[in-house]
Amino acid sequence: MSYVDEQIEKLAELIVSSNNIIVFTGAGISTESGLRDFRGPNGIWTKSEDPTTMTFQKFLVDPEVRKRHWARYGSGEFHANIQPNRAHYAVAEMEKMGKLNCVITQNIDGLHQKAGNNPNNVIELHGTVTKAKCLECGKSYAIEEIRPRFDAGEESPNCRECGGLMKVATISFGQPMPVEETQEAQRRLARCDLCIVIGSTLLVYPAAHMPEIALSAGANLAIINMGNTPLDNMARVRISEKAGDIMEKVMRLVKQKMSGQYKKA
Ligand code: ZN
Repeated sequence: MSYVDEQIEKLAELIVSSNNIIVFTGAGISTESGLRDFRGPNGIWTKSEDPTTMTFQKFLVDPEVRKRHWARYGSGEFHANIQPNRAHYAVAEMEKMGKLNCVITQNIDGLHQKAGNNPNNVIELHGTVTKAKCLECGKSYAIEEIRPRFDAGEESPNCRECGGLMKVATISFGQPMPVEETQEAQRRLARCDLCIVIGSTLLVYPAAHMPEIALSAGANLAIINMGNTPLDNMARVRISEKAGDIMEKVMRLVKQKMSGQYKKA
């Protein structure tokens, strides 16, 4: 058996023997959906734009930055042809099996919900492109509600309720992390029995810290990520491959093992 097959087998066994699993995902899970990894060699931050030109502070004061923000995230271009991939579906399957506590994600693409995960069980640490939020009154809108206005020529639409500045509900550079989501993620991690990291280099705060909470609580850690992470030595399972193929194989094995258990019982 190859090293990767051994690791797949081990992860399947861990999933079967766990009942309170948290999946932690980063940009790497969505690259197979056509979304570029943020920090990889072709990453959005690496290649096309200096992130410091699009900070939250600049969004507040500069209409040009607001226009560019809306053009990128609100126009629908970001969503065009982006569909969940096999890794997202594998995670959704874990939920159907009653194994999953929640998904905690650094991604803003909404693909976990699209793959079938209950939105109440997806904690989005960096916000989402599927909603827009008023910075004045806090009212939240589905992006589909706003897009017709954008398409009709409003380059950075304001809130219909109060006229305040409205932003796609992502967390921009310089914008504070969402307190509720971060705390909820930490609370749940402290009670999980298995944390599976998929497609995160675990380098960006507070992501780096999150799986450590699970470890401190005695949970097992599995990491599926192309390239190294700072927690590799702490992981029971460590696979440096694309997530789609691996997770599909893992869940196929899990199902086999669980139907075997069922027959025995
Ligand atoms: Zn408002």
